[in-house]
Amino acid sequence: MNKETIAIHHGYQKDSQQTMTVPIYQTTAYKFDSAKQAADRFTLQDLGNIYTRLTNPTSDVLEKRFAELEGGIAAIATASGMSAIFYSIINVAEAGDNIIASNKLYGGTLTLFTHTLKRFGITVKTFDINNAEEIEALVDDKTKAIFFESLTNPSVDIPDFEKIVEIANKHRILTMVDNTVATPYLCSPIELGCDISIHSTSKYTSGQGLSIGGILIEGASAKGKIVDNQRYYHFNEPDASYHGLVYTSLDGFPPFVLRVRLALLRDIGATPAPFDSWLFIQGLETLALRIEKHSSNALSVAKFLSTHPKVKNVSYPLLEGDSHYEAAKKYLKGGASGLVSFEVEGLEEAKKVIDNVDIFSIVVNIGDSKSLITNPFSTTHQQCSEEELEKAGVTAGLIRLSIGLENDQDLINALEKALELI
Ligand code: PLP
Repeated sequence: MNKETIAIHHGYQKDSQQTMTVPIYQTTAYKFDSAKQAADRFTLQDLGNIYTRLTNPTSDVLEKRFAELEGGIAAIATASGMSAIFYSIINVAEAGDNIIASNKLYGGTLTLFTHTLKRFGITVKTFDINNAEEIEALVDDKTKAIFFESLTNPSVDIPDFEKIVEIANKHRILTMVDNTVATPYLCSPIELGCDISIHSTSKYTSGQGLSIGGILIEGASAKGKIVDNQRYYHFNEPDASYHGLVYTSLDGFPPFVLRVRLALLRDIGATPAPFDSWLFIQGLETLALRIEKHSSNALSVAKFLSTHPKVKNVSYPLLEGDSHYEAAKKYLKGGASGLVSFEVEGLEEAKKVIDNVDIFSIVVNIGDSKSLITNPFSTTHQQCSEEELEKAGVTAGLIRLSIGLENDQDLINALEKALELI
């Protein structure tokens, strides 16, 4: 089936009421038929719901749909994109371990990696997203993951998937890709050879800025890297916290997702509310149409900005001449999503444009139907050091646009008027 069809039908078996819309199973817990069934649920001999922190039928539809859309074998919905990223990392890394991460990342991911993970004893080594060869020299026995974004926020770079996957496969290290900006429609990291795909569903999946959520998806290739690999010994040895379960020993179970569910959701929580999962299911149904329009609008705006004398440079991967144009043609299908970054002279000029532009709202979000504008330097990346800002490509005069679904000429007219003031 094609993605548009999957997004509307996959993973939903109509219940006795035959409701066309996936029901919202608003419940904390589930009744067992007998004491034996209750016990069997906990030993996984009887698969079914126990408690909504672990599973929920509404979230289950979202997970099945996302897994299928991404070409994966299983998924776990989480309470936010940040919790999906955090779980992905701590599912494999512990104190003394390291991960290798791209230098261009969403600001929240950057602070998680540089500050919070450090307090867990996990080190993050950085590679230049535009020079994936650097990864090779950073790998050691304690490296547990290579993490990057398929379309970076805010700098809209596209990684060399082929090179990253080649190095990761050589060392049997899991690759984790934040696919939030590209969405499953424009980029398929798992089909490009990556192991784990991650989304903040708060963005394009929701589509109208309605709710915070996240999801992580496991590709079939992850198991091959985890089984009998000393790097991931804790998947191959009995887990004392789950009566000696060996995550890789269960046939038909994806070990990465299984461990997130049984150990991390159990102990840490950060489960989505059933209503939020339902909102994301509604969003997925129209994502294909929306992402096409976000992409075509963004290309129109980027073309306009690239000819404006007050604009020092514009980043949009499908703009001819952009340094990622070839990569966009190779790795993205059908568009380059809605993020456009451009630079004006400095912070004062950026603020003037932001304060005077019509239609755009000053919001530190992306992927809304309404167009948004922000200055990453003074907002999302405010907590970054000078060195981190440089690595992330964030300058004082950088303006990030999240192009919405309005008429593209209206957006261009609004920007033109604001740029006249600087
Ligand atoms: N990944 C990317 C690329 C993002 O842009 C964001 C948020 O802006 C996140 C992850 C974090 O997602 P959430 O806000 O749902 O926790």
